[in-house]
Amino acid sequence: MIRLENVSYNYPDGTPALRNINMGIKKGEYIGITGKNGSGKSTFALHLNGLLRPQKGKVMIRGMDTGDFSKLQGIRKIVGIVFQNPETQFVGRTVEEDLAFGPENLCLPPIEIRKRVDRALAETGLGKYRYRSPKTLSGGQGQCVALAGILTMEPECLVFDEVTSMLDPDSGKAVLESVKRLHEKGKTIVYITHNLEELQAADRIIVMDKGRIVIEGKPEDVLSDLSLRDLGLTPPSLIELAERLKNHGVAVPWEKTSSPSSFAEEICRLFLKT
Ligand code: ADP
Ligand code: MG
Repeated sequence: MIRLENVSYNYPDGTPALRNINMGIKKGEYIGITGKNGSGKSTFALHLNGLLRPQKGKVMIRGMDTGDFSKLQGIRKIVGIVFQNPETQFVGRTVEEDLAFGPENLCLPPIEIRKRVDRALAETGLGKYRYRSPKTLSGGQGQCVALAGILTMEPECLVFDEVTSMLDPDSGKAVLESVKRLHEKGKTIVYITHNLEELQAADRIIVMDKGRIVIEGKPEDVLSDLSLRDLGLTPPSLIELAERLKNHGVAVPWEKTSSPSSFAEEICRLFLKT
């Protein structure tokens, strides 16, 4: 449903941010995008709904070219982006008002707006904050409001750009769980993070460096690639441990690397033969 062909983008000051990107995203896919700071992840995200347009190449969203101004409204109904700092996006005095803003701009009838706002509040567990000012919420709750705001637009594809980086671990986990639920419901997900621990559930991972795609593949292949360290990234610790044990002839299967407890059980099984 999304295709980038030979996409290059330089910022007005001449900084090259994307260099000849070619990739496709299928409907219902869960793509993880990673890379160190400055590798071009956010610039890539901004190209997915026409907030930025490529200087070379093209970005097609379900057959619509983001370079075609007449298609932008249609494209933004299909792709919604949630950013790192939700507070900069709040427009309403209350959470409810904030959530109604998007569908109002789509000129939907009030009854449909109400239905979408109710559904988004329920899906993100924000019902009790309906009449609060979004500015008075915690970071994690604010991030849920930003997510709910995108959900009211009912996009097929959701792009998350470093949404957990400002959150404490518990709030981060809650947001990541919402993302997984949306994927299970059939949404197409593009999840951007420099934290590789968050990418084990993705169908496919793309690693960027200096505006290029440098590694692409399944989580079990990409996350166990020890050259990630040379790209300024830290592999998930259990996966790196399994990889280093493998070099010593001890094989811990991939499924056992998802939690410390399953990893420990496997090690005990191997060595204590219990
Ligand atoms: P990431 O999200 O992976 O940290 P970005 O896409 O934000 O990377 O940035 C890619 C490159 O573009 C970096 O070199 C960054 O400094 C540069 N860049 C980002 N935004 C701007 C901007 N508004 N003006 C000039 N250069 C920018
Ligand atoms: Mg970024």
